[in-house]
Amino acid sequence: MSEKVLVVGGVAGGASTAARVRRLDENAEVIMFEKGPHVSFSNCSLPYHLSGIVEDSEKLVLMNPNTFKNRYNIEARVNQEVIQINREVKTITVRDLLTEQTYDESYDKLVLSPGASPIKPPLEGINNPNVFTVRNVVDIEKIMSFVKLNNVKNIAVIGGGFIGVEVAENFRLADYNVNVSLVEFADQVMAPYDYDMAQILHKEMVDHGVDLILNDGLDTIGDGYIKTQSGKQVGAEAVVLAIGVRPERKLAEGAGLEIGETGAIKVNQHYLTNDKDIYAVGDAIEVYHRQLHKPTRLALAGPAQKQARAAADHMYGIPSRNLGVIGSSSIHMFDLNAASTGLNAKMADQAGFKHDYVYVMPGDKVSLMPNSNPMHFKLVYEVTTGKILGAQAIGKGNVDKRIDVIATMITMNGTLEDLKDLELSYSPMLGTAKDVVNHAALVGLNLLYGRYEEVKVSQVRELIEEDAFIIDAREKNEYQTGHLINSINIPLSEFRQRLDEIPNDRPVYIHCRSGQRSYNMVIALRNLGYQNVYNISGSYLGINLYEYYNDITTDREKIVTEYNFR
Ligand SMILES: Cc1cc2nc3c(=O)[nH]c(=O)nc-3n(C[C@H](O)[C@H](O)[C@H](O)COP(=O)(O)OP(=O)(O)OC[C@H]3O[C@@H](n4cnc5c(N)ncnc54)[C@H](O)[C@@H]3O)c2cc1C
Repeated sequence: MSEKVLVVGGVAGGASTAARVRRLDENAEVIMFEKGPHVSFSNCSLPYHLSGIVEDSEKLVLMNPNTFKNRYNIEARVNQEVIQINREVKTITVRDLLTEQTYDESYDKLVLSPGASPIKPPLEGINNPNVFTVRNVVDIEKIMSFVKLNNVKNIAVIGGGFIGVEVAENFRLADYNVNVSLVEFADQVMAPYDYDMAQILHKEMVDHGVDLILNDGLDTIGDGYIKTQSGKQVGAEAVVLAIGVRPERKLAEGAGLEIGETGAIKVNQHYLTNDKDIYAVGDAIEVYHRQLHKPTRLALAGPAQKQARAAADHMYGIPSRNLGVIGSSSIHMFDLNAASTGLNAKMADQAGFKHDYVYVMPGDKVSLMPNSNPMHFKLVYEVTTGKILGAQAIGKGNVDKRIDVIATMITMNGTLEDLKDLELSYSPMLGTAKDVVNHAALVGLNLLYGRYEEVKVSQVRELIEEDAFIIDAREKNEYQTGHLINSINIPLSEFRQRLDEIPNDRPVYIHCRSGQRSYNMVIALRNLGYQNVYNISGSYLGINLYEYYNDITTDREKIVTEYNFR
């Protein structure tokens, strides 16, 4: 006899489960319950309605209940909130939000994919009509009509994660000209990125007119303004809260289903809860982090869809392995793309991994090609095994391709040696013969095997304060357009004739524009018997990007004579 499968939630995890069940069983009765008015919409595209990149909000809805019925014989019931699970009789209680009537529906198998809801802290003004969150099409339409009807000119976005950053970006890109502030409690936006890489994102945001307020939190929402915890008053006729999401676990909790240590619904490797007939997937569950070996939460669309497929397969006895998650994500921000996977250096530190990292910025294409740009790439690996732990990439080019290669490597337990040997495609308009990831592996191996030593971009300010001996290995004309305040210009093309200027009784730190020329000088000096020479990772471009945001937002002295971001 065929199953009756009920699904709670009609978007990423819910719709994917329902569709997979149909593919596995033409005779199953499949009903999907969604408390909102839409199923199957693109949550991830919601912010792009604010800028008009997605002009028509109806386009955000990918499929309607009729299409589900006609194409897949799946009944998608919208405006229906599941309010209770009655496990002993295997029914759910549903409230029709249009009529307020309730009814019960029986199931053989139940799948929960209710997602996660935006966190709203209990602050003064939080329930004002000008305070919004972004979760669905209705939310984004509400924001748009409020902003337009009230001719809003100042918007405060609270929270510098994916959603906050995308919302801020899209408001700035809109043609209705609004001032946008973004308030973030931490000292950086976008937690998957290390502090050094985040500085590149900070520059991009301030360069595009976002008033970025870090190390500060929302305190009060007033009439036309917000107040931060540090006492700053910021003009805001509209406020968008994006400080994180909380797994929707009320239904599960009410039914006595187990909640895990992260506060999300606990499932086994087949996405089964502690009830053999109830599965749970998506943002509402906790998943296993394969590198940290512990439960975590990961609110991303790709994992939700994979979990949905695995849960449906398990219902029908189809085995699927569960590798756990590593956390791969990407974001587009103004003129930059950014992507990350696995552990960043901060996470590796916290988890007690002995690790190091390389920060390189090779061209994303052959340099003479149009649209060739540096790609800032940070690769984190375990010492001494060289096992790849994670990577972050930021640039104008295809960062996602590079990060996806690293995600594959991590999943296959790859090392720097494996990455170095990886045979990747190449054409000058698309990449370089030695791809960014191969390049990073080579640099990592040189470091790992002790062929040279380096200092990180975050250590340069201290070196300057100590009056360290710093060589700028760029050509004279490059040096003249801006340099570190007490560096000495000895170009790579001249240093062999100027060895008498390079001391061998004290540490010598060398940089150029991107680290390539300085690396060559470091190696040559080592071969000439210098013991104490260090490459400055990130070099002049990396130093400028690392220093810039803090320079312009604090009253500290800058350590460069002129910025140069090229
Ligand atoms: C603005 C935004 C941008 C995003 N960008 C990205 C991105 O770029 N990349 C990425 O990977 N991920 C992104 N995400 C995250 C991604 O959308 C989620 O991880 C994914 O949608 C989770 O799927 P889900 O099925 O668990 O939850 P959802 O897709 O949120 O679906 C859950 C649905 O269940 C419904 N529901 C809840 N409780 C009940 C109930 N009791 N009865 C009936 N219905 C109920 C809700 O109304 C909701 O529509 C973004 C999310 C948002 C909000």
